[in-house]
Amino acid sequence: MSQKTVDVLVNGARGSRRRGVSECRGCKRAIYWCASVAGKPIPFDENPDPIAVHGDIETVSADLVHWRTCPKRDEFRKPRPAPPADRALYEE
Ligand SMILES: [Zn+2]
Repeated sequence: MSQKTVDVLVNGARGSRRRGVSECRGCKRAIYWCASVAGKPIPFDENPDPIAVHGDIETVSADLVHWRTCPKRDEFRKPRPAPPADRALYEE
């Protein structure tokens, strides 16, 4: 079984936000925010240890990504807001 991994930026690299901890809105546990290679925030269960480092990119285990482990993860799949054309139908 191969280990799933995800690439994140080294802490603070490329002008990304420094890693920080906050509380998951779903399960209330502390989650550790890293930045994806695209600069988007990814929550982890803990500060992930790098499996490999290449320049300012760290490869880490995807097993700790909180979107995979959160018991409330289904609540994060919110329906997209309706486009303006459709929204008018609901306001009537
Ligand atoms: Zn959670």
